[in-house]
Amino acid sequence: MSKHKISCIRCLLRDLDQKAALKQVTAYRERLPVQQRANKELFEERLSICRDCKWLRLGVCQKSGYYVEASAYDKTKHCPLGTKIW
Ligand code: SF4
Repeated sequence: MSKHKISCIRCLLRDLDQKAALKQVTAYRERLPVQQRANKELFEERLSICRDCKWLRLGVCQKSGYYVEASAYDKTKHCPLGTKIW
């Protein structure tokens, strides 16, 4: 049995063994002003859309270049495909 975790292409950082990147994202989220932070429901809704999106690769949106766990947490940010997506 392989010792390496197999990553799916549409994984979020929290599903991957990418501790440094996740730490960076967490620090970014903590620096956001409270009023700019998405609540848990909005954040998870956005991430569930990203999980099914062909542009998600290893936690990064290939359209925006952002870690989706960072951008989805910021209420002022939107999906680069349009605000109807999120
Ligand atoms: S932000 Fe939009 S384009 Fe990027 S992965 Fe999420 S749903 Fe897809």
